[in-house]
Amino acid sequence: MTLHDAYDPDNIFAKILAGEMPSIKVMEDDIALAFMDVFPQAEGHTLVIPKAVQARNFLDFPTEKVGAYMERVQLVARAVEKAMTPDGLVVTQFNGAPAGQTVFHLHFHIIPRWTGQNLRGHAGGQMADMGELESIAQKIRPFVA
Ligand code: 5GP
Repeated sequence: MTLHDAYDPDNIFAKILAGEMPSIKVMEDDIALAFMDVFPQAEGHTLVIPKAVQARNFLDFPTEKVGAYMERVQLVARAVEKAMTPDGLVVTQFNGAPAGQTVFHLHFHIIPRWTGQNLRGHAGGQMADMGELESIAQKIRPFVA
């Protein structure tokens, strides 16, 4: 049922947007916020979330906002690629718990991939060291400026 439930304004990403929870930001404007995933599946794992909208997932996100939001997703994806120089880059998004979604505010994952290196588990395991995440964010920020 998580695909069509009502938006929960107390979800973690809403709290990050409200400044009630900390995050390591790499890009922010009036359309979107991008920040480091605290359970990164690979070094440089970044999330891009839309602002000023209560959307649980891509299906209930207002169509007229898709273009501007996806421009930010692409901007951050290009920045992550330039900063991390991976061999490949996953840009992905899950809709509903059975699809793998665990936080119910729309977000795209940007995950660098290196040949021969397996992805770490999704949304779990050990939380990243905040100092390490900050130094990765410092590499990405110049490319979204
Ligand atoms: P989903 O499972 O909904 O596609 O992705 C949610 C993502 O948010 C996961 O990759 C998870 O690691 C990440 N995440 C969960 N809680 C937090 C948090 O408090 N801060 C940050 N920065 N990321 C989080």
